[in-house]
Amino acid sequence: MTSEQFQQAAASSAEAISTYYNTIASRPVLPSITPGYLQKLLPTAPPTEGEPWSAIERDIERAIMPGVTHWQHPKFMAFFPAATTYPSMLGELWSAALSAPAFNWICSPVVTELETIVLDWMALMLRLPESFLSRGEGGGVIQLSASDAIATVMIAARERWIRRQLEREGVKGEEEVEDRSCELRGKLVALGSDQSHSSTKKGAIVAGTRFRTIITHHADAYALSGHELRKKIESLKAQGLEPYYLTVTLGTTSTCAVDDLQSIAQVAKDYPDIWIHCDAAYAGNALILPEYQHLSEQLAFVDSFNPNMHKWLRVNFDAALLYVQKRRDLTDTLSITPAYLRNQFTESGLVTDYRDWQIPLGRRFRALKIWFVIRTFGIDGLRAALRHGITLGDQFAGLVRSRSDLFSILTPPAFGLTVFTVNPQKGLRPMLRRGNEVTKEVFEIIDGQKEFFLTSTVVNGVYAIRLVSANPSAEEKYVREVFDILVSTAEDVLRKREA
Ligand code: PLP
Repeated sequence: MTSEQFQQAAASSAEAISTYYNTIASRPVLPSITPGYLQKLLPTAPPTEGEPWSAIERDIERAIMPGVTHWQHPKFMAFFPAATTYPSMLGELWSAALSAPAFNWICSPVVTELETIVLDWMALMLRLPESFLSRGEGGGVIQLSASDAIATVMIAARERWIRRQLEREGVKGEEEVEDRSCELRGKLVALGSDQSHSSTKKGAIVAGTRFRTIITHHADAYALSGHELRKKIESLKAQGLEPYYLTVTLGTTSTCAVDDLQSIAQVAKDYPDIWIHCDAAYAGNALILPEYQHLSEQLAFVDSFNPNMHKWLRVNFDAALLYVQKRRDLTDTLSITPAYLRNQFTESGLVTDYRDWQIPLGRRFRALKIWFVIRTFGIDGLRAALRHGITLGDQFAGLVRSRSDLFSILTPPAFGLTVFTVNPQKGLRPMLRRGNEVTKEVFEIIDGQKEFFLTSTVVNGVYAIRLVSANPSAEEKYVREVFDILVSTAEDVLRKREA
């Protein structure tokens, strides 16, 4: 492709993408193809000769679009959003244009320097405690996903725990250190609540340690409490095991519960060797809003914190921000410098080499899209975008409450997410497990219709429907429409059951 051809192709792509966004609501939110559909549409072997862009472009509508789930569609109310915007797409384009696996500062200095600057900007916007900023001992780094952030900090936590223990025991000598480290590793336990995301369990598999869950209760809206945490730590220690890591969650996946950070902080004081990571993948973004910043203050005790801008803050996947209070906690474990990576800048200690803050070596220029988005929206624009989703969530929760004969809200609506069940019989409350069958039936009917995309969850044995309408195209009229469909479906199901 020549420069001229690129200009034409890029202009034509920009036009097609903006048309896609302008008309997205007219498409079905979910694809209606069957598995393996693409094999039938594409040749079995690659082309021998190159094809013109016009031929490739035609296949976007013919072959690609039929298999797309439209996450930016106003009827997409499933999981959590994965928002994207034009400035973010332009960031991806420029990042691809300047392609470099920028593992060291010297590989492309701007990749590192812009990352440090935008992560500090975000720390200020989120009002994180000062210690998470790069001007002190902490700092932020962009990771691929919340799961990567968790696996990375869990490995750093494991090694930090072992280093401290070896020092206490005075173990020295290469073989002795290795042997004792292996013994100690066998006792280590990672912790998360029964509501923490499955990535914590996966992280423990990656780190090669045990994983135990801590119970949460309906009465606490499924938030982890310091009381349950202490009980679990004490019981594990009594068994000769050593908790070394804990995920606390600010916005759990099922219900957006916020763990009781204040009571957990009290327990954490007694166990300073446990690394505490705050998984705030979705809801953490809300800390840019002053009305949520009382939570920012409560993060002073966590070792690491991760909000995913790619969920809610108008930056496309991937943009998981990982902040640590002490960057040495990462680099002491993850820094290795074989001869070919040595250079005067690294040796000088004046530059950051983000390869030492992550598991892979190479890294993309992801700061660019974050920079473009922050500058295009400004703090006010980003705040307005999040408030829009939260307001729609409150409106939906209000509608659900207005039909308390049909529906029950499972946990207080939070961050735009409403989790609710269908009452087992009209007017009959409470719902809890007795409503499981009917809630599942209503969900499955709506899922099968593919008009809206919602998700279901099971919380402590209760089957519930989750609805979050927080992507950039979300609108009140769709929230009302989905509510009307829920009402008529629930009424039909109950009528049939009563007949
Ligand atoms: N943590 C929470 C609270 C989540 O809700 C999710 C996914 O929705 C994750 C972690 C995993 O996110 P990722 O896909 O970035 O690994």
